[in-house]
Amino acid sequence: MTHSTPERPADIVARLRATFRTGRTKPVAWRTAQLRRLRELLTEHGDDLAAALHADLGKSATEAQRTEIGFTIREIDHTLENLDAWLRPEPAPVPAHLGADATAWTQYDPLGVVLVIAPWNYPVQLLLTPVVGALASGDAVVVKPSEMAPATSAALARLLPAYLDTDAVAVVEGGVPETTALLAERFDHVFYTGNGAVGRVVLRAAAEHLTPVTLELGGKSPAFVDRGADLKVVAERLARGKFLNAGQTCVAPDYVLTDPETAAALEPLLASAVEAVHGADPQTSAEYGRIVNERHFDRLAGLLGSGRVVVGGGSDRADKYIAPTVLADVDPDSPVMAEEIFGPILPIVTVPGLDEAIDFINDRDKPLALYVFGDDAVTRDRIVAETSSGGLGYGLPLAHLTVSDLPFGGVGESGMGNYHGRYSIETFSHRKAVLDKPLS
Ligand code: NAD
Repeated sequence: MTHSTPERPADIVARLRATFRTGRTKPVAWRTAQLRRLRELLTEHGDDLAAALHADLGKSATEAQRTEIGFTIREIDHTLENLDAWLRPEPAPVPAHLGADATAWTQYDPLGVVLVIAPWNYPVQLLLTPVVGALASGDAVVVKPSEMAPATSAALARLLPAYLDTDAVAVVEGGVPETTALLAERFDHVFYTGNGAVGRVVLRAAAEHLTPVTLELGGKSPAFVDRGADLKVVAERLARGKFLNAGQTCVAPDYVLTDPETAAALEPLLASAVEAVHGADPQTSAEYGRIVNERHFDRLAGLLGSGRVVVGGGSDRADKYIAPTVLADVDPDSPVMAEEIFGPILPIVTVPGLDEAIDFINDRDKPLALYVFGDDAVTRDRIVAETSSGGLGYGLPLAHLTVSDLPFGGVGESGMGNYHGRYSIETFSHRKAVLDKPLS
């Protein structure tokens, strides 16, 4: 891998910092102009990006549009619509001892030069959505696409400089050496999406400069299915949410947690839902994606042996294809339950009831998402009150992250900080406290 530009990281950061110091990125007009240009890039080159996503991940054009390009356009539109309101200084009540003429408020300051490091699974959305927040906040930004989605990385490295202010936005392509070199530089914020092991590397590097960090990580997100839930609807929604992007989604339901009777009733419904959504032979479906590379294929193929296959179970290494698979009778100590699956395998784990389900969740790392299927008010209330997760979805997997007015982020092992919509402004700005006591 080589840099898309021969410039050294230190020179890139110095150049962007010089731009930031001129004040050029601060006016709202510059910010909105950049966002409009980014929108143009996405509309004018949507097909190029979709082709790159297909090359990297076998992503269908529909999925590319919905979950990557369209998603980012919606985030841009939401930001353009609301930015003035979000940036408005917020008055704060002043205590009496300062006198009636004193006023106080908070206002957002851009941070400076920020670094965005993106993963391969949604390589457009997860790179550009943070960029929307950084530009809207008036920051200069260095972006590092994932080398594991090379076609998308190359497309972004070609297109971003053609549309955005190159004195304020730079793309650095590459893998570990290039990212390590970047992380040695002083940034004003580092925004990292990916796995927790690298998250620790990023946090350590940032500590050297006392740079604040957002870590968007993953983990095993449970889908709890309550007794009495409408299992046909549950099966259909799980079949769609779990197998989107061949299961390579950070908020995908990682496993189903339910009681044995519900599991037995759910199994055949999941089998028919998988077939209804992905066809009798998903390998021939234009909509069904592929595993990103052989390493991940081999890792996932090794997990197919846990439990009993309800549906799927097939794989084809030459095609990096793993069938949408549901596994039942899965032992909590089996390999498929050891780490985040990040692929199209859905194990069903059973527990006697709600108490044990809550303990099961709390015995493990705090997940990025938790899904609860069932209308029972006590169950719903107990799970939201007694567990901790980045987000919680009742009845529908993945969709909470499409609500731009909700913060998206993890807690504990699933990450720190959040973004989307106005929360991106919080992340990429400093909320400055101001007091004004007139002299006369
Ligand atoms: P990845 O391998 O593409 O890595 C992410 C980024 O880290 C890349 O840009 C890569 O170049 C860089 N990187 C890798 N090793 C590095 C090192 N030693 N030092 C510095 N940088 C390094 O992606 P991944 O980590 O395989 O992504 C999958 C994980 O990301 C899963 O755990 C998933 O749940 C999580 N994820 C989280 C979110 C979220 O929004 N919370 C979104 C997508 C993925």
